[in-house]
Amino acid sequence: MTTRITVGDVEIIALSDGDGARPASWMFPDDGERAVEAYRDLLDADANVVLNFGCFLLRADGKMVLVDAGNGPERGGSLLEQLVETGVRPDEIDLVLFTHLHGDHTGWNIDRATGEARFSRATYLVPRLDFDYYTSLESASVARDIAPLAAFGALDLIEAERALTPSLTTLAAPGHTPGHTGIAVTSQGRHALVIGDAFVSRISLAEPSWRVTADWDAEVAASTRRTLLERADREGAVVALSHLPAPGLGRFGTIEGDRRVWVPLG
Ligand SMILES: [Zn+2]
Repeated sequence: MTTRITVGDVEIIALSDGDGARPASWMFPDDGERAVEAYRDLLDADANVVLNFGCFLLRADGKMVLVDAGNGPERGGSLLEQLVETGVRPDEIDLVLFTHLHGDHTGWNIDRATGEARFSRATYLVPRLDFDYYTSLESASVARDIAPLAAFGALDLIEAERALTPSLTTLAAPGHTPGHTGIAVTSQGRHALVIGDAFVSRISLAEPSWRVTADWDAEVAASTRRTLLERADREGAVVALSHLPAPGLGRFGTIEGDRRVWVPLG
């Protein structure tokens, strides 16, 4: 089942491409023990952080924008079935934005049977800094999922802020990767921030400074988390995050004076 919310005139539909689990001690390499002691309630019985593999479909200003494309067929996720459930065909999607180029966000791009672009009418927006960085590292998932799009002429490399529609503007949120990018939604005075892997666990809300294993640059990532916490407060924004418990839609709340917590919607 998919969850839909509206932010002004923009509709956000949460989709999931399955879930997984990673040990807290792996995810927070400097603070694993403290994570298990202080945030046991946010972990599963084996002290794992449970990860959703979420994608978001934004319907805004007559455009259909897919944010991220999941793990792909090899992991048995259900992104395509969920799209069908929402009544949206892959060829109705106008733009696909990748928050970043890790393989759990690009997996469904290419139809493995035909080698063609799955979202056949879409322009694919890729953060230029990630494209340059992961191409230079010869990333296997970039070779599989992104390089063919370049060959089809369907790639558009983005930098800094870009207005995608009147209600949707990209925002740089670096740290998880060099070019990690989100979308700021503004419509009818309401706000949302679709911000990928800026926070991969609810623990990172309470502990934005803790180094996260998958982050490219721990200090930049921590600084981005603090900026986003402040911005969401200022705007009263709904937040969409790829790996928080499905549907990954919520708000940044505060309890016990100043501890930041995830307040889920849907
Ligand atoms: Zn991810």
